[in-house]
Amino acid sequence: MALDWVKIILVESAGPINVGSVARVMKNFGLNHLVLVNPQCDHLGVEAQKMAVHAKDILESAVLVNTLPEALQGCTRAIATTARIRDWETPLLSPRTALPWLLEEPQQPAALIFGREDRGLSNEELNYAQRFVNIPTSSSYSSLNLATAVAICCYELAQGVEIHSTDNTVLLNKMANADEEISALSRHSGYESAPLDVLEAYYQQLESLLLDIGYLYPHTAASRMEKFRQLYNRTQLQTREVAMLRGILRQVEWVIANPNNHEKS
Ligand code: SAH
Repeated sequence: MALDWVKIILVESAGPINVGSVARVMKNFGLNHLVLVNPQCDHLGVEAQKMAVHAKDILESAVLVNTLPEALQGCTRAIATTARIRDWETPLLSPRTALPWLLEEPQQPAALIFGREDRGLSNEELNYAQRFVNIPTSSSYSSLNLATAVAICCYELAQGVEIHSTDNTVLLNKMANADEEISALSRHSGYESAPLDVLEAYYQQLESLLLDIGYLYPHTAASRMEKFRQLYNRTQLQTREVAMLRGILRQVEWVIANPNNHEKS
């Protein structure tokens, strides 16, 4: 089932009632993997369990991590959600437009990220994602309750899967087998989308090189790197392409370290 590859990531959730409700709605729509980044409440406490009802197993199997990059480890696609529409330049998409993209690469872990109840996700956190979703709401009150936002997104994801599965089942099975073969093949050749931790390593290397050569200054680094991340994230880089880009950086680093050995041919 395609939805089995989608993780729901909650960043620093403070409300046990919200976390329990999220577990319930995930199970309602066939999602199982909950990741809690530095939770600010007891996800196994009475309140969370009470709201989860028959989805306590999702709370129990939730994975706890300290940072968002850890939560994204192994994922090739990530979408971040935000209620804020003003101070964000990249286009915000509706769940219906954006979420099917998470299901396009069969068997590749994907992530849907939700922010804190009081202040959502920081720009830095948003930038770990490649697409951004805003659920259209009334302009007089755009911020939804966290569990409500998760519910709307889980519903749309499940619809995305259902649209595919109303087709001929035999054909679908064939397609699933073909997808498996393609993804098995691509795992060996580097043609698959680069995992986000591989991309992150590239961004870190790029930032440190650009600081070294004086293209970035410590006070401009964050905002410039934000633009680079957005540029690269739009293109859905493949693993072999990231390897190529890192090769360039390594060569530049080598030339800087060995200025006398480098001769232009
Ligand atoms: N005041 C906060 C609201 C946080 S609500 C802010 O400015 O972002 C908690 C989380 O629920 C958000 O981080 C987001 O993940 C989700 N959320 C709430 N309303 C949303 C909306 N209209 N569209 C998309 N996500 C939303």
